[in-house]
Amino acid sequence: MNNSKYVAVIQAGGKGTRMVSLTHDQIPKPMLELNGKPMIQWQIENVAKYGIKEFVIIIGHLGEKIKEYFGNGSSFGVSIRYIEEKEPLGSAGALYYLNEFYSDRDYILIFGDVMFCIDWNRIISFHEKHMGDATLLAHPNAHPYDSDLLILAENEEVIGIDSKNNKRDYWYSNCVNAGIYILSEKFVNTIQELKKTDLEKDLLAPLMGTGKVYGYITPEYVKDVGTPERFANACIEQKAGVWEEKCLEKKQKCIFLDRDGTINKQVGLVYKDEQLVLEECASEAIKLINQSGYLAIVITNQPVVARGLCDISDVEYIHKKMESILGNDGAYVDDIAFCPHHPDKGYPEENPAYKIVCECRKPKTGMIDRMVKKYNIDLSKSYMIGDTTQDIQTGINAGVKTILVKTGEGGQDKKYYVEPDFVADNLLEAVKQIVGE
Ligand SMILES: [Mg+2]
Ligand SMILES: [Zn+2]
Repeated sequence: MNNSKYVAVIQAGGKGTRMVSLTHDQIPKPMLELNGKPMIQWQIENVAKYGIKEFVIIIGHLGEKIKEYFGNGSSFGVSIRYIEEKEPLGSAGALYYLNEFYSDRDYILIFGDVMFCIDWNRIISFHEKHMGDATLLAHPNAHPYDSDLLILAENEEVIGIDSKNNKRDYWYSNCVNAGIYILSEKFVNTIQELKKTDLEKDLLAPLMGTGKVYGYITPEYVKDVGTPERFANACIEQKAGVWEEKCLEKKQKCIFLDRDGTINKQVGLVYKDEQLVLEECASEAIKLINQSGYLAIVITNQPVVARGLCDISDVEYIHKKMESILGNDGAYVDDIAFCPHHPDKGYPEENPAYKIVCECRKPKTGMIDRMVKKYNIDLSKSYMIGDTTQDIQTGINAGVKTILVKTGEGGQDKKYYVEPDFVADNLLEAVKQIVGE
């Protein structure tokens, strides 16, 4: 891909008060050394790898330290210009100057305390496909309850943002605004005045729901490391190779999870959110997957739609409940696929549109196949965990290793004559067998 029309803008002007125990107010926060390199250098190297060689760094407090280190960028194989904020202009005020520097360019906006390792070709393709004014990078994280959530429509449009300061009395998707943006020239052109400007409130929020802002969801490594504790974690994860491993350019390993009887208790058909109660060990198990480098993806048959017990949006709301509860416990799933179909016709209350022979109902592999494409998954390194022989048959059909859990049906459905690779008491024991604890 030729990404040379993009200019990367790094917002490094913040005060960094939460990090003063590390910076001692001698260097700006983005200059903190993370395993031998300043944070900004990690950012520049990841972006430049994808052919984006022009950078603008917005500097403020102690900004001369950044200039001294990076100069015009030539010793790093890139070119760097600087915008100096004389007074704080908020998260987006300084973007005003981009209109003076460039024409006919699009921008990547990165905040100086967000560490990442992503496949830029993918997010740029997404941005160019939707041709929106702005693309926001979103992801599930381990603390959605105190994060800004993006509300996405079916077509990947961002129709709202739910600030972390709002009180939430509803179930929500774990879809967190991660602090990486692609902004079109048109978007930046709307900044006509040099004044304090907030990116979300002043510029993005008014565009949400108008078909101009899109959300790109990725499980890649993107973390705000703006506190000493998060910074220390990022150092450990970098050293362990987690940053690079999770980049979607690399083959991913995945644990596919059945839902009913595996993550949540088997109570017959679940068609209302009240009916969803998690197995006691579910959050701990999924948290362990999150920390292991495996993706956690739910693959579930939900014939409740075909049977006319509820509709697609009800199933989605049930999944929001699952994500909210997991999130409160510090765990998340990377994606959820469900089959709303059922093949047997002829019941009075059924929903005929979904009473079809489909390619996704387990033990067919349609849902897994879709995830393999989406996340570049290596099936030979992946697993399926479930409570029925149907799940085991699905895993075998897909070519992954299988684990039967004794919760839920515990294999008593006996629909298929199959042997799992392992049997475990519950989801937590199953995950422990995989990650070797
Ligand atoms: Mg099940
Ligand atoms: Zn289906």
